[in-house]
Amino acid sequence: MVGGGWAVTQRHIVMPAYYPELTQDAAAGKRGAAFSSAHKGLLVDNHVHTKYAGHSAADSDIVSVRWAGLHRGLRVSLREHAPLPDGFELRQVGRPGREFPSVSTAVGLSLRDHSLGAFFVDCLDAGLSVGFEVDILGGRLDLTEELVAEVYRQARSFGVTIDALNCSHHVMGEAPWDFTPQTLAAAIGFCGGPAAFIRRYFAEIREAVATGLFQCVSHIEAPRKFDMSEALPEPPFSDVEDVWWGELERTLEALAVHGVALEYNTGGLTTWGRPYLGPPALALAVELGIRLVVGSDAHSPEHIGRGFVDAEREIATAGATEVWTFIAGQPVPIPLS
Ligand SMILES: [Zn+2]
Ligand SMILES: [Zn+2]
Repeated sequence: MVGGGWAVTQRHIVMPAYYPELTQDAAAGKRGAAFSSAHKGLLVDNHVHTKYAGHSAADSDIVSVRWAGLHRGLRVSLREHAPLPDGFELRQVGRPGREFPSVSTAVGLSLRDHSLGAFFVDCLDAGLSVGFEVDILGGRLDLTEELVAEVYRQARSFGVTIDALNCSHHVMGEAPWDFTPQTLAAAIGFCGGPAAFIRRYFAEIREAVATGLFQCVSHIEAPRKFDMSEALPEPPFSDVEDVWWGELERTLEALAVHGVALEYNTGGLTTWGRPYLGPPALALAVELGIRLVVGSDAHSPEHIGRGFVDAEREIATAGATEVWTFIAGQPVPIPLS
């Protein structure tokens, strides 16, 4: 870890006036705080992007995002793409179905312009919960730690509380793998085959989880998103399912050991045709006692809360009695009805 100076020392909880269900204890981030069980539904969408993502829909301004959450009875907790360290840039290649609009701008906020500060000001004005998706840059956790320290420093300077950091694996080596079937195939080739890709993917997630920087791991099953793609001659991992499940199991055990939550991401409905997590992974997560956090990965206001009714049913069927959100880095349970 860098310098020890990155932790949030000045907590400024922004209590959304439109979300009265949040108890005072929860708003104060107290251990044991809980959402009222009298309210039904998942209550919080824990993975929403805005126009600052660089590849969101044109109407993803903060006000529209806020109103879309209000309309669906959901508290919106943003997981905007964090800036990347100097020397890294993600630029979307192609257009994977309807998942993202076709754009050529760099993905994510930047430390080289004033976008991070503008994002913080917008979020404060709207009273939105702020969090980030932070990219795992394999082998360069030192850069990730410096980046996280800088994001916390700037948040403090704007009086913003960061509710959660999710770690997300989008990059293999120096290239994004998750944009299209072709980028995934290239990353598999770069690693030396599907089994090698899987082992490296999960090993890098386990390394990130062990740092203590993150509250949650996002869309862990995302490499399966192109399983049904007709652009590939065959499903990329069909010959190495045993490697996939062995590595997934080992990684979920690491999450349980480190107390890191796992995301149930309904964005998978768009490309994979089902949420990340599928039933076997969900069952294993519940069995291991891992906290589940639900997010839509919306890149457009219309996708906020997508699939949440089915998600709640699936999660309850798997045996979970609650899902979780984070306030100032502290886990807060949301009882399932
Ligand atoms: Zn992501
Ligand atoms: Zn996302």
